[in-house]
Amino acid sequence: MSFFDKVKQGASDAAKKAQQTVEITRLKTQISSKEREIDKIYKLIGESVYTSSLASDFSRVEANVTDYCQGITQIKEEISEIELKITEVRNEKECVCGKVVVADTKFCSSCGHHFA
Ligand SMILES: [Zn+2]
Repeated sequence: MSFFDKVKQGASDAAKKAQQTVEITRLKTQISSKEREIDKIYKLIGESVYTSSLASDFSRVEANVTDYCQGITQIKEEISEIELKITEVRNEKECVCGKVVVADTKFCSSCGHHFA
């Protein structure tokens, strides 16, 4: 590779890296806003329980809380999907043991898992 090719290669690697950083920042922003949604639901659960307590009527609260909790579980799943996208953008993958490794790794350095 000539000197100029190396310079060009370096520049395009830097551009790729910058693009990656932008994408990761965007995905992390999505996660933050989903975490705020979860906080809102936690607050609604608290309000629901408190209101029922004031009215001494807990007959409906269980159904409400179940709905809210399902909502939280769904948002948490969405967050996991975004986290997975982040590892893909970083050219990484997660092992069954939880260790994050480079995408083309064949064996996990932590648990020895063989990636198919
Ligand atoms: Zn592993």
